[in-house]
Amino acid sequence: MLEKTALIIGAGPAGLTAAYELLTRTSCRPIVLEKSTYMGGIARTVNYKGNRIDIGGHRFFSKSERVMEWWLKVLPLEGSEANPDQTDAVMLARRRRSRIYFLRRFFEYPIRLSWDTIRKLGLRRTARIGLSYARAALFPIRPERSLEDFFINRFGRELYQTFFRDYTEKVWGVPCNRISAEWGAQRVKGLSILEALRHLVRQAVNRKEDLAQKDIETSLISRFLYPKYGPGQMWEEVARRVTQLGGEVLTGWEVQRLHASGNRITALTAVHAESGEIKRFEGDLFFSSMAVRDLVRGLEADVPEEVRRISEGLVYRDFITVGLLLNKLKAQENGRLVPDNWIYIQEPEVQVGRLQIFNNWSPYLVADRSKVWIGLEYFCFQGDRLWNMPDQELVQLGIRELERIGLIDAAEVVDSTVIRMEKAYPAYFGSYSQFDRLRDYLDQFENLYLVGRNGMHRYNNQDHSMLAAMVAVDNILAGVTSKANLWAVNTEEEYHEEN
Ligand SMILES: Cc1cc2nc3c(=O)[nH]c(=O)nc-3n(C[C@H](O)[C@H](O)[C@H](O)COP(=O)(O)OP(=O)(O)OC[C@H]3O[C@@H](n4cnc5c(N)ncnc54)[C@H](O)[C@@H]3O)c2cc1C
Repeated sequence: MLEKTALIIGAGPAGLTAAYELLTRTSCRPIVLEKSTYMGGIARTVNYKGNRIDIGGHRFFSKSERVMEWWLKVLPLEGSEANPDQTDAVMLARRRRSRIYFLRRFFEYPIRLSWDTIRKLGLRRTARIGLSYARAALFPIRPERSLEDFFINRFGRELYQTFFRDYTEKVWGVPCNRISAEWGAQRVKGLSILEALRHLVRQAVNRKEDLAQKDIETSLISRFLYPKYGPGQMWEEVARRVTQLGGEVLTGWEVQRLHASGNRITALTAVHAESGEIKRFEGDLFFSSMAVRDLVRGLEADVPEEVRRISEGLVYRDFITVGLLLNKLKAQENGRLVPDNWIYIQEPEVQVGRLQIFNNWSPYLVADRSKVWIGLEYFCFQGDRLWNMPDQELVQLGIRELERIGLIDAAEVVDSTVIRMEKAYPAYFGSYSQFDRLRDYLDQFENLYLVGRNGMHRYNNQDHSMLAAMVAVDNILAGVTSKANLWAVNTEEEYHEEN
């Protein structure tokens, strides 16, 4: 017997996990309201003429067994029971490969102090790196005020300028001297040039140890799961099951208002994107994976001025993918397509930040496998010059940039598309340092659960978004009212998409 109604904002990994967990473990009936027509949020798959785009490239990898098992229950791992050539509902096991493209050469990612790196950088540049590191070690910048100071103190100015400055600024759109040093301490854990030097010496004197290390890396780090048709396939399948089990997933509905009475949320008002219809949805439990800033804007309650100010100060970084279909990529190895899933573009003269090679994520993402299907990633702010650029100009920019750095020939491009993704990254600057105050205020609404990446303003991967939803359902079942364990998800995590 279904008793309570749970209203869930957003059909991304967090929202759909909440719906599925509620249906399979409680007597609540979930209704998911999703403003787009896609399942999976940022982890959607966009299908362009049979060529599929994964926004950002989503590895399915988690340190949480609960999440890994959950995924594999939805889409079984390829093998004798599930052959990807014969069935669609299957998870591939893929090799991870990503490198840095700089000085028109490929460097290992994360950058390693190896003989190969030194050879490619050249002796003069390597000497400059060594000297500037020595200077930083002897005369560190004190106090350490910004991310720039943080990087220089740990790596020296030369290495910072070579490998960290431009890419970090491309991703976040602000200079490193305007990002706080704590951000570095939190994100760049366990990296030290001294350890790298020790490793280099060990490598030179003890080849055996190096090989053993390589074995460990190959078995533990370099593989990930991936749905045959990209991440969206996972979330389309979960949405199908939610509906089959009696829940509802309503698309095109943007939640604009949350109505409160005392310390409870009572209803949501949503507007339909196409018809313009406005509808009020009453519920007992509320899960929100919409951006916190939008939630506070729509909250009909007596929100303290300070909380509104913090909310308005939250910053998001937006994202554009330019999809290009090519006869071939110029960058080849042994006469074949380079093996990378994605490549970090470190060349300072271009704006493109990363290059995805979708063939290497799953060959089934590409309609004609003789072609190469790539995604050029640009980081931007909604409304800035890049974001507002007409699609054809963005395509031309992408082609020009890749040709300039020697990765493609313009004549090989046969088709193209452009995808914009708003709020791809919740930023850890702006008013983020005061986020706890906002969180405490919203946690007072006893039947409101903030889940997910923008829902919690957390740099979550899918697994953390899912775990937050799972823990919220655990709490509901156990009658736990504190939300502390929800916020504890992803505080110890080291795995992030581009650290
Ligand atoms: C470049 C990049 C690379 C990434 N790589 C990986 C990776 O390798 N592995 C990994 O696991 N994760 C990766 N991630 C992270 C992953 O995309 C997110 O963790 C995940 O999508 C978050 O899920 P979510 O449900 O919390 O939020 P979202 O995916 O943001 O979903 C929220 C949903 O809510 C909807 N919504 C928003 N506002 C409203 C509203 N007012 N009304 C109704 N609906 C609304 C949105 O349309 C969206 O569908 C990557 C992210 C990026 C940007």
